[in-house]
This record gives sequence, C-alpha cells and structure tokens, in this order.
Amino acid sequence: MKTKYSAKSTESPVLTDMFSRTISYLRLSLTDRCNLRCIYCVTEEEHEGHLVKLSHDELLTYEELLRVVRVAVAMGITKLRLTGGEPLVRHNVMHFISSLGGIDGLDDIRITTNGVLLEKYAHDLVSAGVTKVNVSLDTLQAKRFFEITGVDCFTQVWKGIEQALAAGFSPVKLNMVVMRGINDDELAEFARLSRDLPLQVRFIEFMPIGNSSRWHKDTYMSSDEIMERIGQFGELLPLEKKNADGPAKVFKLGANAKGAVGFISPISHHFCDRCNRLRLTSEGRLRSCLLHDEEIDLRKVLRSGGSDGQIRQTLLDAIENKPKGHQLAQKLREEGGDCHGRMSRIGG
Ligand code: SAM
Repeated sequence: MKTKYSAKSTESPVLTDMFSRTISYLRLSLTDRCNLRCIYCVTEEEHEGHLVKLSHDELLTYEELLRVVRVAVAMGITKLRLTGGEPLVRHNVMHFISSLGGIDGLDDIRITTNGVLLEKYAHDLVSAGVTKVNVSLDTLQAKRFFEITGVDCFTQVWKGIEQALAAGFSPVKLNMVVMRGINDDELAEFARLSRDLPLQVRFIEFMPIGNSSRWHKDTYMSSDEIMERIGQFGELLPLEKKNADGPAKVFKLGANAKGAVGFISPISHHFCDRCNRLRLTSEGRLRSCLLHDEEIDLRKVLRSGGSDGQIRQTLLDAIENKPKGHQLAQKLREEGGDCHGRMSRIGG
C-alpha cells in the first residue's frame, strides 16, 4: 500500500500512510529556546546554564511556518500543536498564532507549554484561537521544581495554570513525566489535584530520548505501576475516550472528581498503530516518528524556491517513511537504553 492523499473537491482531503493510518496531526516546534532547563531534556552541563541553541537563521521563519501549515491543512491536517523548546518565548508568537487561526480547515490549535509565561498569555491564547493547553509540570514542590528545571519559578507556573482555567480552557491538561526516585513520591498529590480542580493530570512514562543522562532502567516507571500506585488513593473509573485525549487512557479518581487522570505509555503499551502524527522540528526537518531519528529537510525545499507542490511532495515523502512502530521496549531489554535527537528541537 502507498501513502495516499485524496483531495476531491467535494470531500475533505485525507492523508493516509503505508499502514492505513490517517495522518491528521502536525506538531510544530517553534523554537529550540526555552526558559527552563529540565533534567530530562538537557545534559548536566546545559542544566547548569550552558545551553547550545540554534541561530535565528536556522529556525524557520513565521512566513515559512505558515506556508507549510497552509499546504499541510490543504492535504488533510486538521490538528496542530505548538511546542518547542518553549513556544511562548518566541518573539511575536501571539501574532503568529492569530495568523494560524485564519487558516481555513484548521479546526484545532493546541499548545504545550511549561507555563512560565501562561499567566501573561492565557487570555491572549484564547483570543488567538488556541483550543487546548497542556502544561508540563513534574513537581508540586518549589524546591524540587528548581532542582528539576534549573529555575526557581514554581509559583509563577502555578499562577499560569490558574489563569488558564480562568481564561476558560477546559480541561487544562497537566503533563507529569514520572521519574522513579525523583518525583514518584508525588503521584498521590498530583492525582488529588484532579479531584479538586478541572484538570486532566497525565502521567507520562519517562522516555530515553534527548540529551539527558538521567534516563536509566531504574528511573523509568511503567504506566501499569503508576496506575497501580494511583489506584491505591481512590477508585479509577474509566472515562469514554474522546478525540482530545490523544493516546492517554483516562479515568476519574472517584465519582465526584472535577477533573481526570490520564496515563500515557509510549514505551510499555505503545500507540504506534493509531499514530496520526507528523512533526516539524525547529530547524525545519520533518520527522515522522518521535523515536526514529530519520528526518527530511523541508527548510532546504523552502529556501531553494520550492513550490507548494514540492512542499506537498516533501510532506508525502515524510509520511511514506513513517515506520510501522518503534521498537524501543525491545531495544531497552536487549541493549539497556537508546537516546535520540534533542527534545527541544523535536518538541516532544
Ligand atoms: N517547553 C514546553 C513544555 O515544557 O511543555 C514544550 C516542550 S517539552 C520538550 C514537551 C513535552 O515533552 C513536555 O511535556 C515534557 O515533559 C516532555 N518530555 C521531554 N523529555 C521527555 C522524556 N525524556 N520522556 C517523556 N517526556 C518528555
């Protein structure tokens, strides 16, 4: 079977890959720059403050990004996620997001942020047409927040989460990367948040990706174990899966919970058979799988005068190369670990 792209004038275009998966979701890493230096994203040296960054010329410009998104949406992409690095640190980002809001056929614009600038931007994000916000938060303790991120701003992030709720995002999703021996003693506190507030607290398996040296078999904790631990704090009532949940399995912690908890298992129960994603890295490389290093240089096409047709063909080439699945769980058993490209450029 070939990559299919059907675009009859009477129906919405649909992109299908070699394994009959519909590709409808594009993740854009807007910048590799970040105002935090999380231990799972960067090397120990970088955590101390020596971040290696792309130059401005290496990043795709907003015009280039808009052009790619327009072509992609005309091919069948309906959902977009802005990520990074930290998307909200890019200069004039609100103007860019508003321009995305004007693209016909793009119904769903989401953002993943560390929340540091959310207090300032939450209402603007709503006005610009962002539909959902995910905030990465790995601890509820200010001192530990500093240890994990290298910056002392837990309170600021928490105010950002409150502001996102006040701005009307519902639910606000919190993403916690669970690391044994680092933050797994906070599982109960995080789960409890979902009882009291309309938050979807998602527990993510720590992946051996990026520059971090922190990943090893002992820091990794499987979703099954996380779920079992959380099940001790209350009954986990399964919720019907909605499109907006992505790969998360979602539950209510007790019938009266205002929010929900979700479990994301990229390693132990991977969701490759349902993967609908394509990624564009901050330096303009198309990546069809988070856990495969193969990328196609779209920036070269854009900067050598490529036509929309050539952009379209490059997107199709990337989708055609999308692997059936990643073999990470097996590799880890056999080799004890494997690390790939820089998370800040890929965008998670
Ligand atoms: N700066 C934004 C933020 O903090 O949400 C967006 C970029 S961050 C790289 C995107 C997501 O990747 C975050 O939710 C982060 O927790 C997750 N992430 C990064 N490294 C990870 C790893 N090794 N395993 C699991 N998740 C990871």
